[in-house]
Amino acid sequence: MEVVKSPLEMQNIALNLKKAGKRIGFVPTMGYLHEGHLSLVRRAKQENDVVVVSIFVNPLQFGKNEDLDRYPRDFERDCSLCEREKVDYIFYPSASDMYPEDFKTYVEVKDLPDVLCGKFRPGHFRGVTTVVLKLFNIVQPDNAYFGEKDYQQLKIIQRMVKDLNVPVNVIGCPIVREPDGLAMSSRNKYLSEEERKSAVFISKALFQVKETFERGERDVNKLKDMGINILKQAPLIREIQYFEVVHPESLEPKEIAESSDVVAVAVYIGNTRLIDNIRL
Ligand code: AMP
Repeated sequence: MEVVKSPLEMQNIALNLKKAGKRIGFVPTMGYLHEGHLSLVRRAKQENDVVVVSIFVNPLQFGKNEDLDRYPRDFERDCSLCEREKVDYIFYPSASDMYPEDFKTYVEVKDLPDVLCGKFRPGHFRGVTTVVLKLFNIVQPDNAYFGEKDYQQLKIIQRMVKDLNVPVNVIGCPIVREPDGLAMSSRNKYLSEEERKSAVFISKALFQVKETFERGERDVNKLKDMGINILKQAPLIREIQYFEVVHPESLEPKEIAESSDVVAVAVYIGNTRLIDNIRL
């Protein structure tokens, strides 16, 4: 495994691999890797000749009062996890190499970023699409793997790739959960023992809503009320930012739920913002 810090060097390596006919699989991350990330890496290993994992806490996608400075980092541990998964390259650029002082170009998808998380994190998805397009240009992947955990992000990236004819297959992968149902996230590290107990209500609410849908309930208001009531049982959930049933592609809110709609939620537990979703 090789750690590459320079974007130019990474791009040269990637272009040479392509010339040699290798299929490149790419897993972009912000590090502090867990089984959710590793599930993407394993899928990439299966479907490509070479796997590149990027580790970059992208300042552009963090709001002013968000957790950029305290975002968990452990590069040594990430390296040994990647080594164990037989990752070929870790791309580990610095913020100043990704965004030199004269940086002036941004990528913005319309509409899709205006709902769900985008409403509460202005500019977030512009930061995401900008960095992901840069990473695609540097790493030159044939296939790029993203988790459905960040469902809105996945849809926005698929939109960008289609609209801008980016020659990459964007592959969505299922959410990996802890045994009690909590979706794995680097941010789970922030949770105290008591907060961790409250966090389980997030997936509990989603599972219950899905079960109620499967028993025949289609009224979104009723499904939402039920989910929100379960969240309210959690003593340390201090803010429910949204609990929505949305169309899987347009992300528009539904009134009558249908199979394959997405139930998406964002809450604050203490200072930790957690998101999750489930497909009906
Ligand atoms: P992050 O490091 O949080 O930016 O995540 C990097 C990638 O891993 C994104 O595509 C996420 O959607 C994905 N990911 C994060 N958590 C999970 C999870 N629990 N299950 C599946 N994929 C995940």
